[in-house]
Amino acid sequence: MNFKLSCTLQKQLWTLFILSWLMVILLALFAGVRLQQFNRKHIELQQSSTALHQDLEQNFHNLRLLTDIQAHLRKYLQSAAPDSVHTIHQLAETLNRVLPMERQEQLDDFLGKLDTLTIRMNSFKLNNKSLFVIEREIIQNTDTVLVNVPVEFRRNIRRLTSQVCLEHHDLYSKLIMTDDQETIARLTQQYEHLFTGVEKKITDFNKNIPAKSRQDLQNLQTSFYKLDESLATITAIRSVTLKTRRDITNSFLFLRKMVTEDSLSRVVGLTTLIESGMSFLRNNLIVMSVIMVIGAFFGGITAIVINHTMVKPLMAFTEMLKKMTGVLAGLRNERNIDRDMSDFLDPVIDQRRNEIGQVASAVKELVVNLRDLALFRQDIEADESTKEIYQRLGRIFSEQLHLDSFVIFELSEDRETMSRVLDQFKIEGLELPQEKKLSGDCRCRRNISTISSLKDSRTCYSFPMSDTLRHICVPMQFSGEVIGVVQFLFPADGIDAKQTSINEHLSEARHYIEEALPVLHVKRLTSRLQSMATKDQLTGLFNRHYLEMSLPPLLAGIQRRKSDICILMCDLDHFKRINDTHGHDAGDDVLIQLAQILRANFRETDLIIRYGGEEFMILLVDCNPEYCRTQAERIRKKIENKPFRIPDNIIGVTISIGTALYPSQSKGDVHKTFKQADLALYHAKETGRNRIVDYSETDQARDKSAA
Ligand code: GH3
Ligand code: MG
Ligand code: MG
Repeated sequence: MNFKLSCTLQKQLWTLFILSWLMVILLALFAGVRLQQFNRKHIELQQSSTALHQDLEQNFHNLRLLTDIQAHLRKYLQSAAPDSVHTIHQLAETLNRVLPMERQEQLDDFLGKLDTLTIRMNSFKLNNKSLFVIEREIIQNTDTVLVNVPVEFRRNIRRLTSQVCLEHHDLYSKLIMTDDQETIARLTQQYEHLFTGVEKKITDFNKNIPAKSRQDLQNLQTSFYKLDESLATITAIRSVTLKTRRDITNSFLFLRKMVTEDSLSRVVGLTTLIESGMSFLRNNLIVMSVIMVIGAFFGGITAIVINHTMVKPLMAFTEMLKKMTGVLAGLRNERNIDRDMSDFLDPVIDQRRNEIGQVASAVKELVVNLRDLALFRQDIEADESTKEIYQRLGRIFSEQLHLDSFVIFELSEDRETMSRVLDQFKIEGLELPQEKKLSGDCRCRRNISTISSLKDSRTCYSFPMSDTLRHICVPMQFSGEVIGVVQFLFPADGIDAKQTSINEHLSEARHYIEEALPVLHVKRLTSRLQSMATKDQLTGLFNRHYLEMSLPPLLAGIQRRKSDICILMCDLDHFKRINDTHGHDAGDDVLIQLAQILRANFRETDLIIRYGGEEFMILLVDCNPEYCRTQAERIRKKIENKPFRIPDNIIGVTISIGTALYPSQSKGDVHKTFKQADLALYHAKETGRNRIVDYSETDQARDKSAA
């Protein structure tokens, strides 16, 4: 039993089509989802980059403002110009509007420190002014002192004032020039040292100058104290201012750094965004590549499937068709064609459960059937007789087609009757109908068509066993003539279930019958021609031509067996009279009846020849003189006693027989023996007719033996 599922090409194509569509739908869905994600990411990136761009622009603007602020700050720190502070405040106000809260606080811190610095710078300025006032006061007081003090002190006092002023200027200029706290400390010490020396000198002067000048000197000393205090204040302010300047610078740098970092963090954000976008793109590329690989793989698989299921079988099929041309051409010589066909067709049939496989299988069956038919034709052409052909047909019916009960009827030479020439009957419990001839009203012959009683048992009234048997008669029709009928027989029981298989086998049987018909026809014609050439048409006995043809093998057999042939030369007595008295047709009837008597009374191996008009030669093979005599005598008596029926009458006929033995009586040529028999016949006629004379009884024989 074949468990392989059959899969038609259409099914295979549908499967591929559905799979392809599923694949396309899946890919489209997947691509749609990925496209949506991609779009989302794209919008995100676009928004982020726009925001970043705006941020960067803003930051750039902020940094530019900061740079302006820095420039003004530097200017302020260098020149303490109040306009700069004003400008810084204006710029800061602009900046403040766009800075984030955190940075605003830092900006406020910076501005606070700037205000502190401004205050300190103003204080510094004020103290500077007071310093010059004090210096003028010192000079005035010195002048006052110089007016009242003695001359010897004037020079020292003037020198002291000059020294203090010079040193003070020197120290002051250093003080305002330096930004270093240590230098400031050192300068402070130098101031202290200067004023300690001043105090000491003034104390010295005070001891030595007159009392009235002491008050002036006291005023001068007070001025020096004021200068000392003012300087101490300026130094302190300077020191604090320096610190404030550092703080403000640091505060500004911090603010600037933070704003720059804000930009950088934006750039980092963008970088992260771009990286995520790139990774998204990369992932998409990988996924798309994988999809493409899967698609390509699927395409490859589809191509392989199509190649395997359709292209290859079609190519094999085409190859097969090409070969078939050659095969069909050489079919008659290809006994092993099925083996050769199997080599290239079986793989297609086994592997393909589709239309190609079915066609291949059908083609193989067709070619094998054609081959079988061709071989059958070849075989029957080589057969000698129609009998052999019928036997071969019979074997095919029973062995190949399981039609094992049949009778073949053949049209007789007189074309009147259909005689049974072959039969086979294998139906248990039943016997083959005994009819040797087909009924005269054979429906099959009359209609020249197949007659079947499978469905209706009474189809043919002439079929004898319609109760128990069913039959199908197939006419053997050639050139418009039914030359025979093949009658297939089946048991009536359970016939309905078998009809399909019977019809299939019958269809094949018909092919064989049709293939055999031309050959049968030719064989029948040949045999008829042969018969016409070797047989006498009136009596059906062999003629002299046949005698000549049969002599060589006959004589060879005789020689081999070292036996004799007895020749009986027979001639009807006064046959002319019968013709004359009863007519030529009556004479013919006598000849026909005589031939029947001869045929019926001699062995199969004996040869009966119509030698001439009413002369007959009988060759008794493997014979001796006694047997020869007995047989001649027997036939003579049979004829003498036989009433011959002629139209409107019955007559008696006698026969004269001359016998001779070969090779016992005459060695050498058999024709001599024929003449001897003829001579003996002549002798029989001479000596009264209706008698038998052997050559040995004739005068010639006696003369010869005497000689
Ligand atoms: P005999 O006893 O001497 O043999 O006399 P016969 O009359 O038989 O001899 P004959 O040879 O004179 O005559 C033979 C006749 O047989 C002559 C011929 O007309 C006749 N005959 C030969 N062949 C046929 C034939 O085929 N049909 C008929 N009806 N007559 C034939
Ligand atoms: Mg004669
Ligand atoms: Mg005669």
